[in-house]
Amino acid sequence: MTEKTFCPQCRSEDVSFLLSARDHLVSGETYTIDRCRRCGLAFTVNPPSEDEIHRYYVSDDYISHSDKKNSLADYFYHIARGLMLRKKYRLVAGATGRKTGNLIDIGSGTGYFASFMQKKGWTVTGIELNDKAREYSVTRFAVNAVPPSELSEVDELSVECITFWHVLEHLYDPGKWLSEVNRILKDEGRCLIALPNLDSADARWYGNRWAALDVPRHLWHFSPEALVRLAEDHGFTCDRILPMPLDIFYISALGYKNEGRRLALARGLVAGLLLTAGSLFRKNSASSLIYVLSKRRS
Ligand SMILES: [Zn+2]
Repeated sequence: MTEKTFCPQCRSEDVSFLLSARDHLVSGETYTIDRCRRCGLAFTVNPPSEDEIHRYYVSDDYISHSDKKNSLADYFYHIARGLMLRKKYRLVAGATGRKTGNLIDIGSGTGYFASFMQKKGWTVTGIELNDKAREYSVTRFAVNAVPPSELSEVDELSVECITFWHVLEHLYDPGKWLSEVNRILKDEGRCLIALPNLDSADARWYGNRWAALDVPRHLWHFSPEALVRLAEDHGFTCDRILPMPLDIFYISALGYKNEGRRLALARGLVAGLLLTAGSLFRKNSASSLIYVLSKRRS
């Protein structure tokens, strides 16, 4: 296997080994993560190709997980999801200054967010690669969900808000997606991107055990510096960076579960509280961050 010797985004050859991490969800394989010294972007080295990656997603579980409430973890998951939907709605309204408009949710999954926004009066299109997830969001929520190829059909300057909730790190060419978003977004529109934060308190604490590395499904591992640079390279400016304070509990609990530790949920809650308390005054140290982007005026 030959390793990449350059950064896939900025093409710099100044890259160095960051860590190696294991795929706990599906394959048990170990992957190397390198970091570019020039643009700061970290990337999974030699990930599966676009034709193979579907084997690394457990899709049946992924869809049925949406609705079951069998365990305490499911119960917390449903509460957290309800809180997050309301928070995302407020964020979209705050960032765009609008109560309605056209919204495209990229990587819309089973359609919960798209449906929530639709009920609030937004005209929503979900973009989703997975056929089953798309069918689910259409039949369960009557959400207009279409495959990624249809994004190119969207008129330029026609959309008020575009969202990527924990999606950009899965895309093979995030720069190309950002260019496309820049084309269809209205000049006063906003693009919201949520991502795990490689510079977070928990990423530093857990190292290669950090569950949000999620190799090889996560092809990219963004720090704030790297995301802002990527956005600027594709015609955006970053207006704000906001914390997602609940993710640390989920990521901590998942990490302990991956290690086969007992009481993973309780451990995750305690570790999450301690890590949150320990980094209260450090900027951009949350487990996940939301970036609010606007189009650069030229
Ligand atoms: Zn680079």
